[in-house]
Amino acid sequence: MTPVPPPHAVARLRAERLVRSSKPFLARGGPSGERCPGCRLRPSHCLCALRPQVPTRAGVCLLMGDTEALKPSNTGWLVADVVADTFAFAWTRTEEPPGLRALLADPQWQPYLVFPGDYADPQRVVTQVQPAEPPGAAPTRRPLFVLLDATWAEARRMFRKSPYLDALPVLGLRPEQASRYRLRQSADAAHLCTLEVAALCLALAGETQAAQVMQAYLDVFTHHYLQAKNQRPVDATDALHQQLHRLCYGASLMP
Ligand SMILES: [Zn+2]
Repeated sequence: MTPVPPPHAVARLRAERLVRSSKPFLARGGPSGERCPGCRLRPSHCLCALRPQVPTRAGVCLLMGDTEALKPSNTGWLVADVVADTFAFAWTRTEEPPGLRALLADPQWQPYLVFPGDYADPQRVVTQVQPAEPPGAAPTRRPLFVLLDATWAEARRMFRKSPYLDALPVLGLRPEQASRYRLRQSADAAHLCTLEVAALCLALAGETQAAQVMQAYLDVFTHHYLQAKNQRPVDATDALHQQLHRLCYGASLMP
């Protein structure tokens, strides 16, 4: 079995939230029983060996709704798997998440609050991300994408009731592609999951390979998750795994 990777920001948030949970969180419709602590899947469907290593210049800051970190289908977890500089905070209506303001003020980062532009004051809305500096030029700040990782209703509440976010530019995305995510059906086909939003942000920042790896990783995760739920094995050499491997290593997977 693959050794369990050290816990990232979302894993730590999940552990903290589990401690506060008075009863075991029961994932609706999700697989039950033993879970791998590294990927939340059944040990027979463990994804840990496939966790991609892609250096990114951009970072991601997840502000997570109350139960989001507990959901086995949460894709903020997958963002943290791929993007080393992923930060995660639990959102509450009454308190500012400790440490968040300091992160947003850190001069190495240029934070962007990612949210549909229609909901923000037009003066705040931007549609582009400052690109990386050309070689030899003065370094520019690294993009930090602040994502509201929650249900759509929660995310709107978070957007309205987080005064510490009010000064950030709002990066409005216009996703051309419908969600490929099949674990949680959304009423709105254009409503992307957190990982897809993060991948689009990275693509906007010019990090195309990382964006593609994230999409491919999401496809592999979704496959493992659904196969586990339906008690079917995974074929680690199928087209989805091949695609992820090719994007990560530039080579085909040996059969
Ligand atoms: Zn695992």
